[in-house]
Amino acid sequence: MSTPAATAKKWTGLPRPWIISGPCSAETESQVLSTAKALADSGNVHLFRAGIWKPRTKPGGFEGVGVEGLQWLKTARQEYGLPFTVEVATAKQVEDALQYEADVLWIGARTTVNPFSVQALADALKGVKIPVLIKNPLNPDLELWAGALERIAGAGIEKIGLIHRGFSNYGNSEYRNVPMWHLAIEMKLRHPQLPMINDPSHICGRRDLLMDVMQRAIDLDFDGLMIESHPNPDQAWSDANQQVTPVRLMEMLAAMRWRTEDINSDSFHTALEALRQQINQLDNEMVQLLGRRMQVAEEIGRYKKENNITILQAGRWQEIIERACAQGERVGLSREFITRYLEAVHMESINRQKKVLDN
Ligand code: PEP
Ligand code: MN
Repeated sequence: MSTPAATAKKWTGLPRPWIISGPCSAETESQVLSTAKALADSGNVHLFRAGIWKPRTKPGGFEGVGVEGLQWLKTARQEYGLPFTVEVATAKQVEDALQYEADVLWIGARTTVNPFSVQALADALKGVKIPVLIKNPLNPDLELWAGALERIAGAGIEKIGLIHRGFSNYGNSEYRNVPMWHLAIEMKLRHPQLPMINDPSHICGRRDLLMDVMQRAIDLDFDGLMIESHPNPDQAWSDANQQVTPVRLMEMLAAMRWRTEDINSDSFHTALEALRQQINQLDNEMVQLLGRRMQVAEEIGRYKKENNITILQAGRWQEIIERACAQGERVGLSREFITRYLEAVHMESINRQKKVLDN
């Protein structure tokens, strides 16, 4: 795999990207050992993952092999030299994972949503020196993710990483968990010193979309990837549709276009700077225009107040959306983008008008 030169400034101390792989669940000793061997032999994987305790939506499914699996992971590390990480959701699991000298712990999406659980983990981690990776919560709530980070950092854990695994949604999407990249980017901008890892497996839920999501993450300067791999994915006891063989994983990594955050080239920097200036200028103009738009909205609010008319008028809103979508289409802006943008603008207009009407 040809990857960028070592630019690691973060605690991983590794050349980026940091590649974490292994099965969704540890199933048998031979499955763990054969996966770890294949990944270690490739030389492209830095950390082995496997779920020992599996949080399942409904009872009755495979809930993980438990502590027994920790010994398999330890053996795999001894045999093939690959450090390992497991998911922990309770204080007892932290204790067990530490007893087997796990190298890194990760907190799953179903745990990050629950401040009680995260605090229990933080309490169990007090005084312990182990890196902890925190997955985003199931729901698109950045503050829950940030809260989990604060709790774990509050316990004195210094090496913390973030994992973007997408957000659950109701309804149609090609993804198992919609990526909502903007949330991961916002978190990354808030905590530029922390490694941000992308987990394409749980975002996609299916193999054919993985490559696209991995590439997007690398294009967005993510620090690593956590990808599920299994010697026989179709027979996996959990998440069968999204796992790939170690061989397929290596093919995908080899086909990636790796990016560096920076290169030493004056002409590149000059061109980039000129484009950034344009972006700044356009952003300034858009902000000015939005300010003007809100002033007009307030004027309409005053008019509505005088005439005792409701703020929200569905017909007019439809007309605004249709006009903008048609215009957007002509300049290459998707309907989805225009609608999301206008909804935000409209919400702000309504709030402004409400203030006028309440005065
Ligand atoms: C997993 O990594 O196998 C897992 C359960 O992930 P998540 O917490 O993202 O659903
Ligand atoms: Mn999984």
